[in-house]
Amino acid sequence: MIEKSIYEDYQINFSDSYTSNDAYYFVFNQDRELYLDNDNLINNISSFNINFSLYIGQYKNKDCFVVNSDFEKGYDLKEVYEIDKDIYLMAAKAVLVNDWYISHQFCGRCGTETEVDEKDMMLKCPKCGQVHYPRIAPAIIVAIRNEDKLLMAKHSYHDNIRYALIAGFVEPGESIEEAVHREVSEEVGIKIKNLKYLKSQSWPFPNSLMLAFEAEYDSGDIKVDGDEILKAKWFKKDEIIRYASDISISDWLIQRFIDNN
Ligand SMILES: [Zn+2]
Repeated sequence: MIEKSIYEDYQINFSDSYTSNDAYYFVFNQDRELYLDNDNLINNISSFNINFSLYIGQYKNKDCFVVNSDFEKGYDLKEVYEIDKDIYLMAAKAVLVNDWYISHQFCGRCGTETEVDEKDMMLKCPKCGQVHYPRIAPAIIVAIRNEDKLLMAKHSYHDNIRYALIAGFVEPGESIEEAVHREVSEEVGIKIKNLKYLKSQSWPFPNSLMLAFEAEYDSGDIKVDGDEILKAKWFKKDEIIRYASDISISDWLIQRFIDNN
C-alpha cells in the first residue's frame, strides 16, 4: 500500500461552478476507468463530451477537477496503481466523488432532484431537506497469529479463489472491535485475544474504508461455514502465497507478519 498521505500533494476544496484554465483533470468513464495520456493526467478536456465537472481543490499546486465523460477505454484503478502511485492515490479519491455525484442526483427519501451545497461537498434535497454525502463503507481486516503461524481463509466471493485474511463489513450498531470478533467467530469459529488496531486505508473497490487489526489466537477449533468461507488454515511465513500486487492493506498486514517472524 502507499504509505504517503494524500494531503502531501492535495488541498481539499469543492465547487460545481468554479472554472480554471490551468488544471489537472481526473476524467472517468461510466466504468470508473481513468483517462491518461502517455501515462499522465490531462490538462485539457476540450475534446471530451462532458457529463459533469466538479472542482475538488488543488493537486500538486494546480486546480484539479473530477470529470465524467463517455470515452471507450481507460485504465481501471488497479492498473493506475501500477502505472503511477501518486496518480492512483488521488484518483482513488476522485472516483468516490464521481460515484457520489452520479448516485445522488435524486433524493433517496422523496425522489426530488437534489442540489449541490458547495460549502460541504453535499447534495441536498430542496423538498424534504435530506442531505446526501459520499457513502463510505467501513470494513475490518485482521491478521490472526498463533505462535509462528498466520490464519488465512478461502473466501468463495473472490473471482479466483485464494487464501486471504479474515475481513468483513462493519454492521450498523457495532464498534469496529466488535466487528472483528463477530467476523472471526462467524467465518472461522475461533476466539481471539489481544486485538490491536494498526492503521486504515481508503479502498475504492467500490467504496470501503479498510481498518486493519492484528490479534492472537485464543481458543476453539477452526470451523468454516462452507458457504462464504470454503477452507481456513494456519500458514507458516514461507507457506504464504503472496498477492500479485502490493496495493492493499491486506498485503501490508501479511508483509508485517513475515517481517516479524
Ligand atoms: Zn427529498
